[in-house]
Amino acid sequence: MATVLYEKDVDRSQIADRKVAILGYGSQGHAHALNLKDSGIDVRVGLREGSSSAAKAAEAGLRVMSMAEASGEADVIMLLLPDTEQGDIYKDHIEPHLQSGDALFFAHGFNVRFDLISAPEGVDVAMVAPKGPGHLVRRTYVEGGGVPCLIAVGQDASGSARDLALAYADAIGGARAGVIETTFAEECETDLFGEQVVLCGGLTSLVTAAFETLCEAGYQPEVAYFECLHELKLIVDLMYEEGIGGMRYSISDTAEYGDLSRGDRIINEDTRAEMKRILSEIQSGSFADEWMSESRSGRPNFLRLEAEGQQHPIEQVGAELRAMMPWISEGRQSVQAVSGGQGKE
Ligand code: NAD
Ligand code: MG
Repeated sequence: MATVLYEKDVDRSQIADRKVAILGYGSQGHAHALNLKDSGIDVRVGLREGSSSAAKAAEAGLRVMSMAEASGEADVIMLLLPDTEQGDIYKDHIEPHLQSGDALFFAHGFNVRFDLISAPEGVDVAMVAPKGPGHLVRRTYVEGGGVPCLIAVGQDASGSARDLALAYADAIGGARAGVIETTFAEECETDLFGEQVVLCGGLTSLVTAAFETLCEAGYQPEVAYFECLHELKLIVDLMYEEGIGGMRYSISDTAEYGDLSRGDRIINEDTRAEMKRILSEIQSGSFADEWMSESRSGRPNFLRLEAEGQQHPIEQVGAELRAMMPWISEGRQSVQAVSGGQGKE
């Protein structure tokens, strides 16, 4: 079992006299910058020229400057930029300003795990990865709580990279909820696997395939939508709150027997073999290579697949049905409404 670290385990002096630069002011960037500032940390925000986030950050009372200037001034530099852009930005705006004793921080292991960024000797490399979206990182902090964080050390030049990462996690509220130590490889590989197999890829394919099966068999699309998509939330909330057993306790015996006797036919030996193949593509770096070259060539497949998804009948049926349930988009049905007002630029 992993050790979970809390506020009592933190040496706050590790970050108290550091100068922190937050590069990027999107989902994570705005939350880290504002939480650090409210924790009394010396923080500045580095943005690209002409960034529309500059005004928002300045209005929130933050010092805003170019990414190069921020990297020069600061001795802890946190990259909260899109993973596909970090490598180029690092070469152009950060590397020239890195000095021995500085620390380079990440919120996801992608660029370090796949060798897209390697810091010079003498520089600490660490990760503080909140396990939740940026808006929740900010909102829970303001409310006196926090979002659990993973921390990891990629290069320990100073001998105190781990303690600095823990102090940073604390300053954004993470140590109120719990901090777990991991490695860049574990965080990155499990994160990619989770989103591909369960949270995003597995889930959207399961829902649309089941919806199509019912529609092709002549059932009404509205009924198929409620059954295959809408009701998912209720089941997931039960699993989130009570575990799988708690969910099974709440559903009918008939539903439970269908679950117990049929689930393995959907996620069968072939599916498990495919999960292993997806995991090896992640581990070997071939997924990362594919995604980086897709992104560098203007994302043609990404954009085509995204557009195809938007054209799927389940989206039209869903939009019509959700329009009749305005309380859903107002967040009143959700157990914990996570969407905030912070837009991207
Ligand atoms: P985001 O897309 O919300 O924000 C990225 C920021 O970078 C924006 O301010 C954007 O304007 C800016 N930006 C984009 N392209 C740029 C460029 N070429 N030059 C300069 N600035 C540019 O990103 P995010 O979701 O906050 O992700 C940041 C990091 O945090 C990533 O490493 C991500 O994996 C990690 N992370 C995200 C979440 C999450 O829930 N969003 C959770 C944990 C970790
Ligand atoms: Mg993730």
